Amino acid sequence: MYCAKCGTEVPEGNRFCANCGAAVSAVPEKRSGKPIVGGILGIVAGVLALGAGIALVVDGANVGPLESVDWEGIGFGISFLVTGTLAVLGSSFAIPRRNFVLAVIGAVLALWPMWPLGIPAIVLISLSYEEFRPLR
Ligand SMILES: [Zn+2]
Repeated sequence: MYCAKCGTEVPEGNRFCANCGAAVSAVPEKRSGKPIVGGILGIVAGVLALGAGIALVVDGANVGPLESVDWEGIGFGISFLVTGTLAVLGSSFAIPRRNFVLAVIGAVLALWPMWPLGIPAIVLISLSYEEFRPLR
């Protein structure tokens, strides 16, 4: 099991954390793959959004004379680049179960460009709330 205070692994049977000295509860921590899968979905959604964003910006800018630049396409592309980057950053907090709030924000941001991946990411991370380290 893991120390609720500092996250160090505590050997089964030990009553105190060797790292910070906190008393460890006898209840073993539940750990599932849900935050890992949710985090990976969010990161994949973010990376796909980055690819789509780059393609939209390049496509929008490459149509020839200035009057025919597709500003709407570029705008969508930039919004994909921003949300994709933030989705990857937030979701990276889900895999080590480090920060529930940032993990949820990452999954929510994955919704805008890639909702089929964002929705399961939000569900999986929400269900694994208790596996995250307590917020201080
Ligand atoms: Zn500890």
